[in-house]
Amino acid sequence: MMVGNNDAAVNDAVIIGSGINSLVSGAMLAQKGWRVLVLERNDHVGGAIATRTEVFPGYTVELLASWHPLFLGGPAYTELATDLARLGVEYLNTEDPTGVICADGSAILSTDATRNAATFESLGDLDAWNAVMSDFGGKAELAFGLLGTDFWRVNSSKFGWKAWRQMGRKALLASGAELLEPAAPWVDRTFTSPVTKALLVPWALHNGLGPDDASSAFITKAISAAISMGGMPIPVGGGVKLVDALCAIITEAGGEILTGIEATQIDVSGGRAHSVRTNNGVTYPARKAILASVTPQSLYLDLLDPSNVSTDYSSAASAYRYGRAGMQIHLALSEPPQWTTAGMEKVALVHVLDSMDSLSESVNAANRGFLPRRPTIVVGQPSTIDSSRVPEGAGLLWIQLQEVPREIRGDLAGEIDYVGGWTPEIRDLYADRVIEQLTPHIANISSCLTGKLVLGPADLAAMNVNLVGGDPYSGDCRVDQYALWRPLRLANGHNTGIKGLWQIGASTHPGPGLGGGSGYLVAKRLRERRH
Ligand SMILES: Cc1cc2nc3c(=O)[nH]c(=O)nc-3n(C[C@H](O)[C@H](O)[C@H](O)COP(=O)(O)OP(=O)(O)OC[C@H]3O[C@@H](n4cnc5c(N)ncnc54)[C@H](O)[C@@H]3O)c2cc1C
Repeated sequence: MMVGNNDAAVNDAVIIGSGINSLVSGAMLAQKGWRVLVLERNDHVGGAIATRTEVFPGYTVELLASWHPLFLGGPAYTELATDLARLGVEYLNTEDPTGVICADGSAILSTDATRNAATFESLGDLDAWNAVMSDFGGKAELAFGLLGTDFWRVNSSKFGWKAWRQMGRKALLASGAELLEPAAPWVDRTFTSPVTKALLVPWALHNGLGPDDASSAFITKAISAAISMGGMPIPVGGGVKLVDALCAIITEAGGEILTGIEATQIDVSGGRAHSVRTNNGVTYPARKAILASVTPQSLYLDLLDPSNVSTDYSSAASAYRYGRAGMQIHLALSEPPQWTTAGMEKVALVHVLDSMDSLSESVNAANRGFLPRRPTIVVGQPSTIDSSRVPEGAGLLWIQLQEVPREIRGDLAGEIDYVGGWTPEIRDLYADRVIEQLTPHIANISSCLTGKLVLGPADLAAMNVNLVGGDPYSGDCRVDQYALWRPLRLANGHNTGIKGLWQIGASTHPGPGLGGGSGYLVAKRLRERRH
C-alpha cells in the first residue's frame, strides 16, 4: 500500500519501520518541511499500536499497546498536540487509572488526592505515601528529565549541573544509590500493608523490570506519581487514530508511507549512509538522514554490510539481549464484567496477583524459562474510559501477562508437561490457567464470553519483527541495557557511528513505551542541525 503523493522525488529522510518512534520523528521532521518516506514491512502502519475492529464485530480491540500516559506526558505530544487536535485526535481519561486485587485485599489508586488519602489511611500507609510523593515530587523534574534526556548532547551536561545545583554533591551521589535500589526492599522498608505493596510494585513490570531488579524502586515511584497525577489517557476510537494523524502530518508535507516493503540493506559510501534498498528491488535515497527503528542485531548485523561496521559495534550488537516474553488475551463479553470486588468495574487497569512474593516468584520463573503458577494478571478495561470501543451494554477485557518465558523449560505449577518453543496448544493451555485464576474475581467471565483471542510470544514475534521471541519491549530493560547503555554497551546512543544514520525505537534510549521518546530526541537533533 502507498499513502502520500511523493512520486519519484528524493526524500530528505527515509525512516525504516512505522512504530510510534518512526511516526513521531517523521511528523516532527515534516513539520519543518522535510520530505519523509516511511518504509514498513507489514501491510499496516503503527507497529505495536494495532487497533482492530474485525476481531470481534462491534468491538474496537487494541491487540497490543493500549494505554497512552507516556505519550501524553512526554515531549513529543507537546510538539505535535496542535496538529493532532486539528486532525481529530481526542484523548479521554479516568479518575480510576489502576487498582489491585491481591490475597490480602484490594485498593484503587486514583487521580483524586482526597480519595488516595482515604485509601492509604485505611491501609495504614498514609504517612508513608505522603512522604514518598512529597520526596519524589521535589525531584520529579530531575527524575522525568533523566528518563527523557539525550545524554549525547551538550545540554545533557546542563541537566547534570542542574541536578548538582539543586541537590548538592553529597545528596546527588546518594541519589545514585536511590536510583539503583530494587523495589522489593524499598516497599518492605517503606510501607506496612501488603496491599499497598501489591498496588504499586507491579507497575515495574510495565517498564520491563521485576521487584528484585536494580532501579525498580525508582521506576515504581515514577510511574505511581505519574499515574496518580496524570491518570490513564487513551485516544477515542483507539491508537489507530493517533497513527493515522501522525501519518497525515507526514503526507501533508509531501511525504509518503509505503507498507508491505521491507528494508533489506542500508548503503554507505565515504562513511555516510545515503540510501535504503528494499525487497521490492527499489533503492530509496535520503538527502539528509536515514532513521532505522529496528533491533541492534537487525541494524548492525543484517542491514549494514560488515565492511561498514567496526568490530566493537558488531560485537556489542551481538551481545544485546532480549527480555521476558508477553502474552495478550482479549475477551469480548456480552455484558460488562461483574467484578466481585466493588469499584473495580470502573478501573482502567487492574492487577490481579497473590502478593509481592508471587510477583517476585513469577518474574524469576519466567526469566529462567518456567511458566509461573501464580502469574500477575493485568486486566485492562478500555471501555471504562472510551465507551465507543464496545457495543452498548457489552464488555471488553484486554488482558496482559508480562511474566512469560521466551522458551519453556518447565512449569512451576507442575501441570503443563512441555519443554520447547511456544505452540498454539501450549499458549491456549496457559491462557486457560490465567482465565481460571480470574474466574473468582469476574463472575460472568465465562457465562457472558462471546469472543476470545489469545496472542502468545510466537504470535507477537510474528506480528512485529522487533518483538524478538515475543519480548514486548524489544530488549531486556535491566539497568545494564538502559539509559546510557541502550541500545549498545558502547554508550553510543542513537548515533550509529555512520554519518547520516540513526537508530531509534524501543531498543534505544529512552526504551519501550508509547512516549515516542527516541523518535523525538533524534528528530529534535536533526531539526536543529545544518544539513
Ligand atoms: C503487547 C504489548 C503491549 C504494550 N502495551 C503498551 C501500553 O499500553 N502502553 C505503552 O506505553 N507501551 C506499551 N507497549 C510498549 C510499546 O507499545 C512499544 O515499546 C512501542 O510501541 C514500540 O514502538 P517502536 O517505535 O519501537 O516501534 P514498533 O512498534 O516496534 O514498530 C516497529 C516497526 O518496524 C517495522 N520494521 C522492522 N524492521 C523493518 C524493516 N527492515 N523494514 C521495514 N519495516 C521494518 C516492524 O514491522 C514494525 O511495524 C506494549 C508493547 C506490546 C508488544
